[in-house]
Amino acid sequence: MKAWTRTLGLIALLLLPLTALAEAQIQSVRLWRAPDNTRLVLDLSAAVKYEVLTLDKPLRVVIDMKDAQLATQLDGLSLGGTPIRALRSGRPSSDILRLVIDLSAEVKPSSFSLPPNAPYGHRLVIDLFDQLPQTQVAPNAPPPTNSSPTVSLPSGQRDIVIAIDAGHGGEDPGALGAKGQHEKHVTLAIARELQRQINQRKGFRGELTRSGDYFIPLVKRPLIARQKGADLFVSIHADAAERKSAFGASVYALSKGGASSETARWLAKNENRSDLIGGVDRLSLNDKDPMLAGVLLDLSMNAKLASSLNVGDKVLSSMGKVTALHKRSVETAGFIVLKSPDMPSILVETGFISNQNEAQKLNTAQHQRTLASAIAKGIFEFFQKNPPPGSWLAFTRDGGQSVATAAREHRVQAGESLSQIARRYQVSTAALRQHNALKSDLIKVGQILKIPAL
Ligand SMILES: [Zn+2]
Repeated sequence: MKAWTRTLGLIALLLLPLTALAEAQIQSVRLWRAPDNTRLVLDLSAAVKYEVLTLDKPLRVVIDMKDAQLATQLDGLSLGGTPIRALRSGRPSSDILRLVIDLSAEVKPSSFSLPPNAPYGHRLVIDLFDQLPQTQVAPNAPPPTNSSPTVSLPSGQRDIVIAIDAGHGGEDPGALGAKGQHEKHVTLAIARELQRQINQRKGFRGELTRSGDYFIPLVKRPLIARQKGADLFVSIHADAAERKSAFGASVYALSKGGASSETARWLAKNENRSDLIGGVDRLSLNDKDPMLAGVLLDLSMNAKLASSLNVGDKVLSSMGKVTALHKRSVETAGFIVLKSPDMPSILVETGFISNQNEAQKLNTAQHQRTLASAIAKGIFEFFQKNPPPGSWLAFTRDGGQSVATAAREHRVQAGESLSQIARRYQVSTAALRQHNALKSDLIKVGQILKIPAL
């Protein structure tokens, strides 16, 4: 009997530390608010088995984690502007840690776990997607009868739309500067300034893919640009190199094959890590988004590539007048964010944040303004020579004569959708469909569409 107790005691002693090791600790909780969702990130000491449930009365989402322990406070998060009222924890049973998210509005949760990826360890990501208000029209509902465009520009005089993509954001800080500067803040500041300058120019409009500090997967960025009817996609970055003395700006375009240099290859590899760092639910991306599948399809992009190199060249030489250049010509590599068949796309490295001198400059409003105006100048120059049909710039270049009539036809290009073309000419999709006697929204490359008058 005595021996038995002793044995049991020994087993218990041996088991205790093992159990303690098997427990995953929640070391911190972070929160990011995006325009259409709220992301909660749990930093864990090890992977956990978990389950996410939505409950009502009161409305809440609970996350049950097996063999987990809370090793942080839940009350330090700023919940303003989110549908989260409060965060709390409990233990429905001894081996389950329950995280309760009290809600003020309905959300659709989506969750996934991520393996360690510098600068992060194990993570559990919970995205709470806002639900559309009841009054909003479902995507495939018939268009309202009086769907006149909101912008009252004459037909054939639309704005040229520049999508400005501030690199990184939220979970993904991007490169880190010598004094702790985050690339994601520098890129957003320059992107905002670039938008301001573009909007000041008649015939142009700047649209941001990201307008705050939140994460957007790389593959979704060109999608947002496409939804805004962009003619050009410009991704803004400020990167790091292992060699701390490296400095100067560079401009990149997509290459379908190998990279044009070792730096280009290294950089593309680094930039493409964004989705691993920021966290992307691969399954939901691949399955549920037909538009995304379209972007990932490697369509014939040669024409877009030539335009990308052309606009990249103009931006680079314009930047060369205000800042040092890292490379004298546009480089190419396999950047995921540039893989859009729709529009010419470039990635601008505004400088090296890993270089102490350059990092300091990149953080000043004055240098950000100077860089933005150089980028804008290159973009204006490109479109001055290549104004898209139907744009105000094309209209004025051709003397404002008969262009409106010439622009009444549109030849469908690879990757274009009917709704995108409708947006470009500022007519409704319904009007475009009717004007061309289309039975569905399916269009073919090379097909000529007649554009209705407003
Ligand atoms: Zn970057």
